[in-house]
Amino acid sequence: MTFDFDLFIIGAGSGGVRAARVAAQHGAKVAVAEEYRVGGTCVIRGCVPKKMLVYGAHFAEDLHEAARFGWDIGSAEFNWPRLRDIVQDDVARLEGLYTQTLNNNHATIFAERAIVAGPNVVRLASGQEISARYILIAVGAWPAIPDVPGAELGITSNEIFHLDALPKRAVIAGAGYIANEFAGILHAFGVDVTVVTRGDRMLRGYDTEIVDRLVGMTTAKGIDLRFNYPLKSVTRQADGSLLVDGGDAGQIETDLLLWAIGRTPKTPGLGLEAAGVALDADGAVIVDGHSCTNVPSIYAVGDVTNRVQLTPVAIREGHAFADTVFGNAPRTVDYQSIPTAVFSSPPLAGVGLTEDEARAQYGDSVKIFRSDFRPMKNVVSGRMERGLYKMVTAGADERVVGLHLIGPDSAEILQAAAIAVKAGLTKQAFDDTVALHPSMAEELVLLK
Ligand code: NDP
Repeated sequence: MTFDFDLFIIGAGSGGVRAARVAAQHGAKVAVAEEYRVGGTCVIRGCVPKKMLVYGAHFAEDLHEAARFGWDIGSAEFNWPRLRDIVQDDVARLEGLYTQTLNNNHATIFAERAIVAGPNVVRLASGQEISARYILIAVGAWPAIPDVPGAELGITSNEIFHLDALPKRAVIAGAGYIANEFAGILHAFGVDVTVVTRGDRMLRGYDTEIVDRLVGMTTAKGIDLRFNYPLKSVTRQADGSLLVDGGDAGQIETDLLLWAIGRTPKTPGLGLEAAGVALDADGAVIVDGHSCTNVPSIYAVGDVTNRVQLTPVAIREGHAFADTVFGNAPRTVDYQSIPTAVFSSPPLAGVGLTEDEARAQYGDSVKIFRSDFRPMKNVVSGRMERGLYKMVTAGADERVVGLHLIGPDSAEILQAAAIAVKAGLTKQAFDDTVALHPSMAEELVLLK
Protein backbone atom coordinates (compact mmCIF):
# COMPACT_ATOMS: atom_id res chain seq x y z
CA MET A 1 0.00 0.00 0.00
CA THR A 2 1.19 3.54 -0.63
CA PHE A 3 0.40 6.43 1.68
CA ASP A 4 0.53 10.21 1.31
CA PHE A 5 2.92 10.37 4.27
CA ASP A 6 4.95 7.93 6.36
CA LEU A 7 3.92 9.79 9.50
CA PHE A 8 1.07 12.18 10.24
CA ILE A 9 1.36 13.93 13.61
CA ILE A 10 -1.66 15.61 15.16
CA GLY A 11 -0.39 18.37 17.45
CA ALA A 12 2.78 20.48 17.15
CA GLY A 13 3.72 20.68 20.82
CA SER A 14 6.91 19.49 22.47
CA GLY A 15 6.32 15.77 21.82
CA GLY A 16 4.99 16.18 18.29
CA VAL A 17 7.73 18.50 17.08
CA ARG A 18 10.49 16.27 18.49
CA ALA A 19 8.93 13.20 16.86
CA ALA A 20 8.61 15.06 13.54
CA ARG A 21 12.25 16.13 13.52
CA VAL A 22 13.69 12.76 14.50
CA ALA A 23 11.40 10.77 12.19
CA ALA A 24 12.31 13.07 9.29
CA GLN A 25 16.00 12.66 10.08
CA HIS A 26 15.46 8.90 9.88
CA GLY A 27 14.13 9.47 6.36
CA ALA A 28 10.36 9.56 6.96
CA LYS A 29 8.04 11.81 4.97
CA VAL A 30 6.27 13.73 7.74
CA ALA A 31 3.18 15.92 8.06
CA VAL A 32 2.04 17.82 11.15
CA ALA A 33 -1.38 19.36 11.82
CA GLU A 34 -1.71 22.12 14.40
CA GLU A 35 -5.00 23.91 15.00
CA TYR A 36 -3.57 26.76 17.10
CA ARG A 37 0.10 27.74 17.30
CA VAL A 38 3.22 25.64 16.73
CA GLY A 39 4.95 25.07 20.07
CA GLY A 40 2.12 23.66 22.15
CA THR A 41 1.27 24.29 25.78
CA CYS A 42 4.83 24.61 27.09
CA VAL A 43 5.95 27.26 24.64
CA ILE A 44 2.72 29.12 23.98
CA ARG A 45 0.82 29.12 27.30
CA GLY A 46 2.77 27.12 29.85
CA CYS A 47 6.31 26.62 31.11
CA VAL A 48 8.03 29.29 29.02
CA PRO A 49 5.79 32.35 29.48
CA LYS A 50 5.13 31.28 33.09
CA LYS A 51 8.85 31.23 33.88
CA MET A 52 9.22 34.70 32.39
CA LEU A 53 6.47 35.94 34.71
CA VAL A 54 8.27 34.25 37.63
CA TYR A 55 11.38 36.27 36.73
CA GLY A 56 9.25 39.41 36.67
CA ALA A 57 7.73 38.53 40.02
CA HIS A 58 11.14 38.18 41.68
CA PHE A 59 11.74 41.89 41.33
CA ALA A 60 9.02 42.66 43.86
CA GLU A 61 11.02 41.24 46.76
CA ASP A 62 14.41 42.14 45.30
CA LEU A 63 13.49 45.80 44.86
CA HIS A 64 11.98 45.90 48.32
CA GLU A 65 15.16 44.50 49.82
CA ALA A 66 17.58 46.46 47.62
CA ALA A 67 18.10 49.14 50.28
CA ARG A 68 19.61 46.52 52.61
CA PHE A 69 22.22 45.90 49.92
CA GLY A 70 23.00 49.60 49.66
CA TRP A 71 20.78 50.53 46.74
CA ASP A 72 18.30 53.38 46.94
CA ILE A 73 15.81 52.72 44.19
CA GLY A 74 13.21 55.43 44.70
CA SER A 75 9.68 54.49 43.87
CA ALA A 76 9.18 51.36 41.78
CA GLU A 77 6.05 50.76 39.70
CA PHE A 78 5.04 47.53 38.05
CA ASN A 79 3.73 47.75 34.48
CA TRP A 80 1.78 44.57 33.63
CA PRO A 81 1.01 45.34 29.96
CA ARG A 82 4.72 45.91 29.29
CA LEU A 83 5.80 42.58 30.77
CA ARG A 84 2.84 40.78 29.18
CA ASP A 85 3.70 42.08 25.72
CA ILE A 86 7.44 41.39 26.00
CA VAL A 87 6.66 37.84 27.10
CA GLN A 88 4.28 37.39 24.16
CA ASP A 89 6.92 38.73 21.78
CA ASP A 90 9.26 36.02 22.97
CA VAL A 91 6.56 33.39 22.67
CA ALA A 92 6.14 34.45 19.03
CA ARG A 93 9.91 34.22 18.52
CA LEU A 94 9.96 30.67 19.90
CA GLU A 95 6.93 29.71 17.82
CA GLY A 96 8.94 30.83 14.80
CA LEU A 97 11.91 28.68 15.84
CA TYR A 98 9.70 25.61 16.31
CA THR A 99 8.13 26.21 12.90
CA GLN A 100 11.60 26.57 11.42
CA THR A 101 12.59 23.20 12.91
CA LEU A 102 9.65 21.58 11.12
CA ASN A 103 10.43 23.39 7.87
CA ASN A 104 14.15 22.57 8.05
CA ASN A 105 13.20 18.92 8.29
CA HIS A 106 10.81 19.21 5.34
CA ALA A 107 7.75 18.39 7.42
CA THR A 108 4.51 19.57 5.81
CA ILE A 109 2.55 21.78 8.21
CA PHE A 110 -1.25 21.89 8.05
CA ALA A 111 -2.38 24.89 10.09
CA GLU A 112 -5.77 23.44 10.89
CA ARG A 113 -7.47 20.86 13.08
CA ALA A 114 -7.09 17.22 12.12
CA ILE A 115 -8.97 14.23 13.45
CA VAL A 116 -8.46 10.50 13.05
CA ALA A 117 -10.73 9.03 10.38
CA GLY A 118 -9.32 5.49 10.39
CA PRO A 119 -6.20 3.50 11.29
CA ASN A 120 -4.29 5.16 8.42
CA VAL A 121 -6.41 8.22 7.61
CA VAL A 122 -6.76 11.69 9.08
CA ARG A 123 -9.36 14.26 8.09
CA LEU A 124 -8.52 17.97 8.13
CA ALA A 125 -11.02 20.66 9.12
CA SER A 126 -11.17 21.60 5.43
CA GLY A 127 -12.53 18.11 4.70
CA GLN A 128 -9.38 16.87 2.97
CA GLU A 129 -8.46 13.28 3.83
CA ILE A 130 -4.81 12.26 4.04
CA SER A 131 -3.36 8.79 4.42
CA ALA A 132 -0.33 7.89 6.51
CA ARG A 133 1.49 4.68 7.37
CA TYR A 134 1.57 5.84 11.00
CA ILE A 135 -0.44 8.42 12.93
CA LEU A 136 0.96 10.03 16.09
CA ILE A 137 -1.49 11.62 18.54
CA ALA A 138 0.30 14.46 20.34
CA VAL A 139 -2.57 16.84 21.10
CA GLY A 140 -1.74 17.35 24.77
CA ALA A 141 -4.16 18.20 27.54
CA TRP A 142 -6.55 21.02 28.35
CA PRO A 143 -7.35 22.83 31.62
CA ALA A 144 -10.17 21.13 33.52
CA ILE A 145 -13.19 23.21 34.51
CA PRO A 146 -15.48 21.74 37.16
CA ASP A 147 -19.17 21.15 36.70
CA VAL A 148 -20.43 23.85 39.08
CA PRO A 149 -22.89 26.70 38.34
CA GLY A 150 -21.07 29.75 37.01
CA ALA A 151 -17.82 27.87 36.27
CA GLU A 152 -17.59 29.69 32.93
CA LEU A 153 -17.03 32.96 34.81
CA GLY A 154 -13.56 31.74 35.73
CA ILE A 155 -10.53 31.69 33.46
CA THR A 156 -7.73 29.14 33.06
CA SER A 157 -3.99 29.22 32.54
CA ASN A 158 -4.77 29.62 28.82
CA GLU A 159 -6.13 33.12 29.36
CA ILE A 160 -4.07 34.38 32.30
CA PHE A 161 -1.14 35.41 30.09
CA HIS A 162 -3.32 37.81 28.11
CA LEU A 163 -5.16 39.82 30.79
CA ASP A 164 -5.84 43.43 29.79
CA ALA A 165 -5.18 44.51 33.34
CA LEU A 166 -4.34 42.79 36.59
CA PRO A 167 -7.26 42.29 38.97
CA LYS A 168 -7.23 43.77 42.44
CA ARG A 169 -8.26 40.42 43.94
CA ALA A 170 -7.92 36.86 42.62
CA VAL A 171 -9.18 33.50 43.79
CA ILE A 172 -7.24 30.49 42.55
CA ALA A 173 -9.04 27.16 42.74
CA GLY A 174 -6.73 24.13 43.10
CA ALA A 175 -3.52 23.49 44.97
CA GLY A 176 -1.20 21.93 42.45
CA TYR A 177 1.52 23.30 40.22
CA ILE A 178 -0.40 26.08 38.50
CA ALA A 179 -2.17 27.29 41.65
CA ASN A 180 1.07 27.61 43.61
CA GLU A 181 3.02 29.17 40.78
CA PHE A 182 0.39 31.78 39.94
CA ALA A 183 -0.31 32.51 43.61
CA GLY A 184 3.33 33.63 43.88
CA ILE A 185 3.32 35.53 40.59
CA LEU A 186 0.06 37.42 41.12
CA HIS A 187 0.88 38.22 44.76
CA ALA A 188 4.23 39.69 43.72
CA PHE A 189 2.45 41.86 41.16
CA GLY A 190 0.28 43.30 43.94
CA VAL A 191 -2.86 41.19 43.55
CA ASP A 192 -4.70 40.14 46.71
CA VAL A 193 -4.61 36.32 46.30
CA THR A 194 -6.75 33.62 47.91
CA VAL A 195 -6.11 29.95 47.08
CA VAL A 196 -8.98 27.54 47.72
CA THR A 197 -8.61 23.80 47.60
CA ARG A 198 -11.02 20.96 48.15
CA GLY A 199 -8.72 18.87 50.36
CA ASP A 200 -6.48 19.42 53.34
CA ARG A 201 -3.19 19.22 51.43
CA MET A 202 -1.55 20.85 48.50
CA LEU A 203 1.01 19.60 46.00
CA ARG A 204 0.17 15.97 46.63
CA GLY A 205 3.10 13.89 45.42
CA TYR A 206 5.72 16.22 46.90
CA ASP A 207 7.38 15.54 50.27
CA THR A 208 5.06 16.60 53.08
CA GLU A 209 7.70 18.45 55.09
CA ILE A 210 8.80 20.49 52.07
CA VAL A 211 5.20 21.33 51.18
CA ASP A 212 4.50 22.33 54.80
CA ARG A 213 7.44 24.74 54.58
CA LEU A 214 5.93 26.28 51.44
CA VAL A 215 2.52 26.57 53.11
CA GLY A 216 4.12 28.47 56.00
CA MET A 217 6.05 30.83 53.74
CA THR A 218 3.09 31.39 51.42
CA THR A 219 0.85 32.30 54.34
CA ALA A 220 3.54 34.55 55.84
CA LYS A 221 3.69 36.50 52.56
CA GLY A 222 0.00 37.32 52.94
CA ILE A 223 -1.52 34.83 50.50
CA ASP A 224 -4.76 33.46 51.95
CA LEU A 225 -4.75 29.64 51.74
CA ARG A 226 -8.10 27.99 52.40
CA PHE A 227 -8.16 24.21 52.71
CA ASN A 228 -11.29 22.02 52.72
CA TYR A 229 -13.06 24.59 50.58
CA PRO A 230 -15.69 22.91 48.38
CA LEU A 231 -16.26 25.48 45.64
CA LYS A 232 -20.00 25.16 44.95
CA SER A 233 -20.87 28.04 42.63
CA VAL A 234 -19.75 31.32 41.11
CA THR A 235 -22.00 34.30 40.41
CA ARG A 236 -21.45 37.70 38.82
CA GLN A 237 -22.47 40.56 41.12
CA ALA A 238 -24.02 43.86 40.10
CA ASP A 239 -20.68 45.69 40.37
CA GLY A 240 -19.04 43.18 38.00
CA SER A 241 -17.14 41.32 40.71
CA LEU A 242 -17.50 37.57 41.27
CA LEU A 243 -18.90 35.83 44.32
CA VAL A 244 -17.34 32.45 44.97
CA ASP A 245 -19.47 30.27 47.23
CA GLY A 246 -17.90 27.53 49.33
CA GLY A 247 -21.03 26.61 51.30
CA ASP A 248 -20.20 26.27 55.00
CA ALA A 249 -16.60 27.25 54.16
CA GLY A 250 -17.81 30.75 53.31
CA GLN A 251 -18.09 33.15 50.39
CA ILE A 252 -15.30 35.13 48.79
CA GLU A 253 -15.66 38.25 46.64
CA THR A 254 -13.12 38.50 43.88
CA ASP A 255 -12.33 40.16 40.56
CA LEU A 256 -10.82 37.08 38.92
CA LEU A 257 -11.22 33.33 39.39
CA LEU A 258 -8.50 31.07 38.01
CA TRP A 259 -9.25 27.37 37.64
CA ALA A 260 -6.09 25.34 38.30
CA ILE A 261 -7.55 21.92 39.03
CA GLY A 262 -5.58 19.77 36.62
CA ARG A 263 -5.45 19.18 32.89
CA THR A 264 -7.39 16.52 30.99
CA PRO A 265 -6.30 14.78 27.77
CA LYS A 266 -7.62 16.65 24.74
CA THR A 267 -9.23 13.64 23.06
CA PRO A 268 -12.92 14.65 22.76
CA GLY A 269 -13.97 14.86 19.12
CA LEU A 270 -10.67 13.49 17.86
CA GLY A 271 -12.24 10.44 16.22
CA LEU A 272 -10.20 8.01 18.27
CA GLU A 273 -13.07 5.87 19.57
CA ALA A 274 -14.47 5.50 16.05
CA ALA A 275 -11.06 4.36 14.85
CA GLY A 276 -11.04 1.76 17.62
CA VAL A 277 -8.38 3.40 19.80
CA ALA A 278 -8.84 2.54 23.49
CA LEU A 279 -9.07 5.43 25.98
CA ASP A 280 -9.08 5.27 29.78
CA ALA A 281 -11.80 6.68 32.05
CA ASP A 282 -10.19 10.15 31.93
CA GLY A 283 -10.06 10.13 28.12
CA ALA A 284 -6.31 9.47 28.00
CA VAL A 285 -5.00 7.37 25.12
CA ILE A 286 -3.86 4.00 26.43
CA VAL A 287 -0.41 3.08 25.11
CA ASP A 288 2.24 0.43 25.68
CA GLY A 289 5.89 1.03 26.58
CA HIS A 290 6.60 2.05 22.98
CA SER A 291 3.72 4.58 22.99
CA CYS A 292 1.69 2.32 20.66
CA THR A 293 -2.09 2.20 21.08
CA ASN A 294 -4.18 -0.95 20.58
CA VAL A 295 -4.35 0.05 16.87
CA PRO A 296 -0.85 -0.87 15.57
CA SER A 297 -0.58 2.11 13.17
CA ILE A 298 -1.58 4.71 15.79
CA TYR A 299 0.79 5.95 18.52
CA ALA A 300 0.43 8.66 21.17
CA VAL A 301 2.94 10.67 23.22
CA GLY A 302 2.86 13.44 25.81
CA ASP A 303 0.07 14.75 28.02
CA VAL A 304 -2.65 13.07 25.94
CA THR A 305 -1.46 9.74 27.37
CA ASN A 306 -1.60 11.08 30.95
CA ARG A 307 1.55 9.23 31.98
CA VAL A 308 3.67 12.08 33.35
CA GLN A 309 2.39 15.52 32.26
CA LEU A 310 5.78 17.16 31.80
CA THR A 311 7.40 18.66 28.70
CA PRO A 312 10.79 16.89 28.95
CA VAL A 313 8.95 13.58 29.27
CA ALA A 314 6.82 14.28 26.18
CA ILE A 315 10.00 15.14 24.28
CA ARG A 316 11.62 11.85 25.28
CA GLU A 317 8.50 9.93 24.34
CA GLY A 318 8.38 11.61 20.93
CA HIS A 319 12.07 10.90 20.37
CA ALA A 320 11.82 7.26 21.47
CA PHE A 321 8.77 6.77 19.23
CA ALA A 322 10.60 8.09 16.18
CA ASP A 323 13.73 6.02 16.88
CA THR A 324 11.61 2.91 17.42
CA VAL A 325 9.36 3.20 14.40
CA PHE A 326 11.63 4.93 11.86
CA GLY A 327 15.18 4.50 13.21
CA ASN A 328 15.20 0.75 13.63
CA ALA A 329 16.32 1.36 17.22
CA PRO A 330 13.50 0.38 19.62
CA ARG A 331 13.69 2.48 22.79
CA THR A 332 11.46 3.05 25.78
CA VAL A 333 11.42 5.99 28.19
CA ASP A 334 12.75 5.51 31.73
CA TYR A 335 10.22 7.06 34.10
CA GLN A 336 12.28 6.46 37.26
CA SER A 337 13.61 9.44 39.21
CA ILE A 338 12.28 12.28 37.06
CA PRO A 339 13.26 15.58 38.69
CA THR A 340 10.40 18.07 38.98
CA ALA A 341 9.97 21.57 40.35
CA VAL A 342 7.23 23.97 41.31
CA PHE A 343 8.17 27.55 40.50
CA SER A 344 6.39 28.86 43.55
CA SER A 345 7.83 31.62 45.72
CA PRO A 346 10.26 30.25 46.79
CA PRO A 347 10.51 27.32 44.38
CA LEU A 348 10.61 23.72 45.51
CA ALA A 349 12.01 20.73 43.68
CA GLY A 350 12.23 17.00 44.19
CA VAL A 351 13.52 13.79 42.69
CA GLY A 352 12.87 10.20 43.67
CA LEU A 353 10.86 8.98 46.63
CA THR A 354 9.31 11.18 49.29
CA GLU A 355 9.89 10.17 52.90
CA ASP A 356 6.43 8.52 53.08
CA GLU A 357 6.95 6.63 49.82
CA ALA A 358 10.39 5.44 50.90
CA ARG A 359 9.10 4.21 54.28
CA ALA A 360 6.31 2.32 52.53
CA GLN A 361 8.82 0.72 50.16
CA TYR A 362 11.94 0.24 52.31
CA GLY A 363 10.56 0.22 55.89
CA ASP A 364 13.00 0.68 58.75
CA SER A 365 16.07 0.97 56.57
CA VAL A 366 15.05 4.50 55.58
CA LYS A 367 17.07 7.38 57.00
CA ILE A 368 16.43 11.10 56.66
CA PHE A 369 19.12 13.76 56.53
CA ARG A 370 18.31 17.46 56.58
CA SER A 371 19.70 20.94 56.35
CA ASP A 372 17.43 23.73 57.57
CA PHE A 373 19.24 26.96 56.78
CA ARG A 374 18.77 30.67 56.19
CA PRO A 375 20.29 31.58 52.83
CA MET A 376 23.01 34.22 53.18
CA LYS A 377 21.10 36.59 50.92
CA ASN A 378 18.12 36.40 53.26
CA VAL A 379 20.32 37.17 56.26
CA VAL A 380 21.52 40.40 54.61
CA SER A 381 18.07 41.33 53.32
CA GLY A 382 16.39 40.62 56.64
CA ARG A 383 14.05 38.08 55.09
CA MET A 384 13.17 35.38 57.60
CA GLU A 385 12.53 32.60 55.04
CA ARG A 386 14.58 29.44 55.60
CA GLY A 387 15.50 26.84 53.02
CA LEU A 388 15.06 23.13 53.75
CA TYR A 389 16.99 20.37 51.99
CA LYS A 390 16.03 16.80 52.76
CA MET A 391 17.72 13.58 51.69
CA VAL A 392 16.00 10.20 51.89
CA THR A 393 18.24 7.12 51.93
CA ALA A 394 17.46 3.42 52.02
CA GLY A 395 19.46 0.36 53.03
CA ALA A 396 22.63 -0.14 55.06
CA ASP A 397 24.70 1.57 52.37
CA GLU A 398 22.48 4.67 52.60
CA ARG A 399 21.69 4.84 48.90
CA VAL A 400 19.98 8.15 48.10
CA VAL A 401 16.44 7.37 46.92
CA GLY A 402 15.00 10.87 47.25
CA LEU A 403 16.12 14.47 47.41
CA HIS A 404 13.73 17.32 48.18
CA LEU A 405 14.57 21.01 48.31
CA ILE A 406 12.81 24.27 48.98
CA GLY A 407 14.59 27.58 48.77
CA PRO A 408 15.91 30.07 46.20
CA ASP A 409 17.08 28.47 42.95
CA SER A 410 16.13 24.99 44.17
CA ALA A 411 15.15 23.89 40.63
CA GLU A 412 18.60 24.86 39.32
CA ILE A 413 20.34 23.06 42.18
CA LEU A 414 18.21 19.94 42.00
CA GLN A 415 18.79 19.37 38.29
CA ALA A 416 22.49 18.76 38.96
CA ALA A 417 21.90 16.77 42.14
CA ALA A 418 19.33 14.58 40.36
CA ILE A 419 22.16 13.09 38.31
CA ALA A 420 23.65 11.68 41.51
CA VAL A 421 20.30 10.25 42.59
CA LYS A 422 19.68 8.76 39.15
CA ALA A 423 23.16 7.23 39.24
CA GLY A 424 22.27 5.51 42.52
CA LEU A 425 24.95 7.23 44.63
CA THR A 426 25.07 6.95 48.41
CA LYS A 427 25.05 9.56 51.15
CA GLN A 428 28.78 8.85 51.53
CA ALA A 429 29.39 10.04 47.94
CA PHE A 430 27.72 13.34 48.81
CA ASP A 431 29.76 13.58 52.05
CA ASP A 432 32.98 12.88 50.14
CA THR A 433 32.35 15.86 47.87
CA VAL A 434 33.98 19.08 49.08
CA ALA A 435 31.54 21.93 49.70
CA LEU A 436 31.52 24.81 47.24
CA HIS A 437 31.53 27.71 49.65
CA PRO A 438 29.64 29.96 50.05
CA SER A 439 26.62 28.64 48.19
CA MET A 440 23.23 27.22 49.02
CA ALA A 441 23.99 24.05 47.06
CA GLU A 442 26.81 23.20 49.49
CA GLU A 443 24.09 22.24 51.97
CA LEU A 444 23.69 19.08 49.87
CA VAL A 445 27.09 17.81 51.03
CA LEU A 446 26.60 18.96 54.63
CA LEU A 447 23.33 17.17 55.41
CA LYS A 448 22.94 15.76 58.92
P1 NDP B 1 -2.24 19.57 39.40
O1 NDP B 1 -2.51 18.19 38.98
O2 NDP B 1 -0.85 19.96 39.75
O3 NDP B 1 -3.14 19.91 40.66
C1 NDP B 1 -4.53 19.82 40.60
C2 NDP B 1 -5.12 20.44 41.84
O4 NDP B 1 -6.53 20.60 41.64
C3 NDP B 1 -4.96 19.60 43.08
O5 NDP B 1 -4.82 20.45 44.18
C4 NDP B 1 -6.28 18.84 43.16
O6 NDP B 1 -6.67 18.52 44.46
C5 NDP B 1 -7.26 19.88 42.63
N1 NDP B 1 -8.44 19.31 41.97
C6 NDP B 1 -8.47 18.31 41.05
N2 NDP B 1 -9.74 18.10 40.63
C7 NDP B 1 -10.50 18.99 41.28
C8 NDP B 1 -11.89 19.26 41.28
N3 NDP B 1 -12.74 18.59 40.50
N4 NDP B 1 -12.34 20.25 42.10
C9 NDP B 1 -11.50 20.94 42.88
N5 NDP B 1 -10.16 20.73 42.92
C10 NDP B 1 -9.68 19.77 42.14
O7 NDP B 1 -2.87 20.47 38.25
P2 NDP B 1 -2.47 21.89 37.62
O8 NDP B 1 -3.70 22.33 36.93
O9 NDP B 1 -1.85 22.77 38.63
O10 NDP B 1 -1.38 21.51 36.54
C11 NDP B 1 -1.67 20.55 35.52
C12 NDP B 1 -0.44 19.77 35.17
O11 NDP B 1 0.43 20.59 34.40
C13 NDP B 1 0.39 19.32 36.36
O12 NDP B 1 -0.01 18.08 36.85
C14 NDP B 1 1.78 19.26 35.79
O13 NDP B 1 1.98 17.98 35.26
C15 NDP B 1 1.77 20.30 34.69
N6 NDP B 1 2.47 21.52 35.12
C16 NDP B 1 3.80 21.42 35.46
C17 NDP B 1 4.49 22.52 35.89
C18 NDP B 1 5.93 22.38 36.27
O14 NDP B 1 6.54 21.38 35.93
N7 NDP B 1 6.50 23.33 37.01
C19 NDP B 1 3.86 23.84 35.98
C20 NDP B 1 2.46 23.82 35.63
C21 NDP B 1 1.80 22.70 35.22
P3 NDP B 1 -6.35 17.09 45.13
O15 NDP B 1 -4.93 17.14 45.58
O16 NDP B 1 -7.35 17.02 46.23
O17 NDP B 1 -6.58 16.06 44.07
